Amino acid sequence: MKRLTILGATGSVGSSTLDLVARNPDRFQIAGLAAGKDWARLADLARTFRPTRVVIADEAGYDPLKQALADQPETEVAAGSAALIALAAAPADLVVASIVGAAGLPSTLAALDAGITVALANKEALVCAGGLMTAAARRSGARILTIDSEHNAIFQVLEAVDRVRRIIITASGGPFRTWTREAMAAATPAQAVKHPTWSMGAKISIDSATLMNKGLELIEAYHLFGLRPDQLDVLVHPQSLVHGLVEYIDGSVLAQLGSADMRVPIAHALAWPERIETPVERLDLARIGRLEFEEADRDRFPALALAEAALREGGCRPCILNAANEEAVAAFLAGRIGFLDIAAVVAETLSAIPARCPETLDDVADADARARAKAQQNITLLKHSPFAARQAAV
Ligand code: MG
Repeated sequence: MKRLTILGATGSVGSSTLDLVARNPDRFQIAGLAAGKDWARLADLARTFRPTRVVIADEAGYDPLKQALADQPETEVAAGSAALIALAAAPADLVVASIVGAAGLPSTLAALDAGITVALANKEALVCAGGLMTAAARRSGARILTIDSEHNAIFQVLEAVDRVRRIIITASGGPFRTWTREAMAAATPAQAVKHPTWSMGAKISIDSATLMNKGLELIEAYHLFGLRPDQLDVLVHPQSLVHGLVEYIDGSVLAQLGSADMRVPIAHALAWPERIETPVERLDLARIGRLEFEEADRDRFPALALAEAALREGGCRPCILNAANEEAVAAFLAGRIGFLDIAAVVAETLSAIPARCPETLDDVADADARARAKAQQNITLLKHSPFAARQAAV
């Protein structure tokens, strides 16, 4: 029996994870569940899975959650960021870290510090503080498994790193793969969240539309696999069936394939080193007929180039990139800026803040806060002269 704690239980990855847990009651047991704001959904999940503890990050959710679980005294209820960190470090065999954004960093780090294996969906934590996270895992002996589909694919086909020439993560290209810059300038949030192959949360769907998601994933791969930045590559594959490839020094290329369903990588991480059955659609290559690939276009999708530069520069550049991107994506979803402005805000923020290495969680928090403040200034400027800014971005 594996005891799981799920941070971000009400989100897309949390729901897929609980679907697999419900199908394998003899293998998995829920130790803890945490959610951001949705106390009603969290209460429903707590009644179904009977965890030892539940945490609602938003303290306003404490009273209604406590009341909803009044007849379930075996489940302890807590709220706030300190309770979230305590839950992450509480006894469990595996913590599924699926909180979106840099907000998930302290809890993920707490699990690693406590020596608990983490199944990581929260790529922003690794982008912001990958050095701290991998050091914490080495110190405590915790393992970082990944449920990002591309990285999980690489993990499945990776032998010793010194035999690897390069690794390639695939990108669907997102909903605007064939759009011109002019068309993208007028793209709406509804168009941008409509991902062609994957069903995911709003933030990662926008990141997929800008290709920032692929840039963040290169930085994630850098920390997970210990290769040089120039050994990490992106390949556009619109069908999302080949998720990752490893090219070895002898010319062999090993790839992992599967349906575009997050339950495949999640099942792999939950069961590792074993495997479990899943209900996902089986891959029928004869019906699919052909697999398509193309180069990523860094001119139409400058966010990818920005992330690659941040990876090469290292230090706190990826943290600044991520913080500015989180602010810009939220502003785009709120209708405050245009689609092309997302990368423009990130570029402007990176150029305005000098580099300094993150060594502690405080340094990372400081770089993150400065980048968010600068990004908000840039968003306000754009809002007041949207036409000029959009022209500059095109
Ligand atoms: Mg991914």
